[in-house]
Amino acid sequence: MFRTEFDDPEGIRHGGLPTYNYRHAPGGLYTRRQLADEGLTPGRQPIAAQIVWRCGQRFAYLYRKELAVPKRPATDAQLRALMKAWVALCTCKSCGREYGYYIPRRFGECLACVEGRSA
Ligand SMILES: [Zn+2]
Repeated sequence: MFRTEFDDPEGIRHGGLPTYNYRHAPGGLYTRRQLADEGLTPGRQPIAAQIVWRCGQRFAYLYRKELAVPKRPATDAQLRALMKAWVALCTCKSCGREYGYYIPRRFGECLACVEGRSA
């Protein structure tokens, strides 16, 4: 259902923001969600246009794909937190040694400690 009243490429009726019907936006313009699907974010670019659907009830902003930037996988702080958690999981609580694998939760300590105890 094409609603001409929402098709406003010049943005005359929408405060200067080019407005298109859902699925009628020109190529190269993507929603934040569509960019995310390709591992991109809009970055610092301004909103390029908007799409309208559901009889003008729903709006979504569009961004230019060529100005989009790759999503940063994780910040340094996030990585540090992950590493810390990982190191904690790999460190034996009994002898304090750090291993390259998770300490079996069943034992709560490394195999050397488990064996040393049972021996
Ligand atoms: Zn141990």
